[in-house]
Amino acid sequence: MAHRRLATVRFYFSFNCLKINLNMTDCIFCKIINKKLPASVEAETKNVIVFHSIAPVSTYHVLIVPKKHIKSFQDFSPKDKDLFFEMVKIAQKVIKDKKLSSGYKLVINGGKYQAVSHFHWHLLGGELEDKNDILNQT
Ligand SMILES: [Zn+2]
Repeated sequence: MAHRRLATVRFYFSFNCLKINLNMTDCIFCKIINKKLPASVEAETKNVIVFHSIAPVSTYHVLIVPKKHIKSFQDFSPKDKDLFFEMVKIAQKVIKDKKLSSGYKLVINGGKYQAVSHFHWHLLGGELEDKNDILNQT
């Protein structure tokens, strides 16, 4: 009986590892992080990478991405608090280095508005593409 339970646990464990690996293998941001896909990298730390969007909506548009595969904002947990603050610090550094302090947006998309299922912030600066968008008027 105990042997069977152990086998079930092992199966469950390997199934979940396989699932995690499949998710990461399919994820374009994980491929960028693992240098399997090219990107225009703006900045990088041990746990966070910043690269330019391939579909910019402003004259300056980068994505701030944790290297750990976290699916969405809703999947952040207290154990990721140091990672979250590392993202804050690199965002502050890019805003300072690129002289964006006079006008920038830091945006989190979720659900149907999130194009890639790997959590990221959009840092927008300079001139926005769609000035009529209600979010661009506030
Ligand atoms: Zn990923």
